[in-house]
Amino acid sequence: MDHNCIFCKIANGEIPAKTLYEDEEFRVILDLAPATKGHALILPKSHYKNLYELPDETAAKVMKLAKKMATTMTEKLGCDGFNIVQNNNEVAGQTVFHFHMHLIPRYENDNQRISWNPLEMTQDELEAVKKQITE
Ligand code: 5GP
Ligand code: ZN
Repeated sequence: MDHNCIFCKIANGEIPAKTLYEDEEFRVILDLAPATKGHALILPKSHYKNLYELPDETAAKVMKLAKKMATTMTEKLGCDGFNIVQNNNEVAGQTVFHFHMHLIPRYENDNQRISWNPLEMTQDELEAVKKQITE
């Protein structure tokens, strides 16, 4: 646990939050400034700065928990869809540097957008990127 980290304190119960789920390794809380009704965050109780630091085993458990939470929340909230979002580093929009996964219920006409401006790429450009990643 990092004593300067707000999510360490929340995950470990030192600072209160609206908890939707808790087990030995994780706490799922409502986001204080939600994108939509029910916007929640999965927090590991151990401090990992981001996805790069997350152990494989924890990463697998996070995805399994995300699926379980999305299923329950969809049933209970009656939302029409769901976004899973996870930001790493400032350039990608991370503001709290303790790994977390956003669970964002989506509703018809919720007036929110999780989007990007699509780039135009030729097949050659795509091929060059593929090579850069895979070779
Ligand atoms: P990020 O931008 O790092 O991916 O997301 C951080 C999220 O944490 C934001 O959606 C923000 O509203 C939420 N957040 C920041 N501080 C607190 C807090 O003290 N309590 C809760 N429940 N959420 C927080
Ligand atoms: Zn932390």
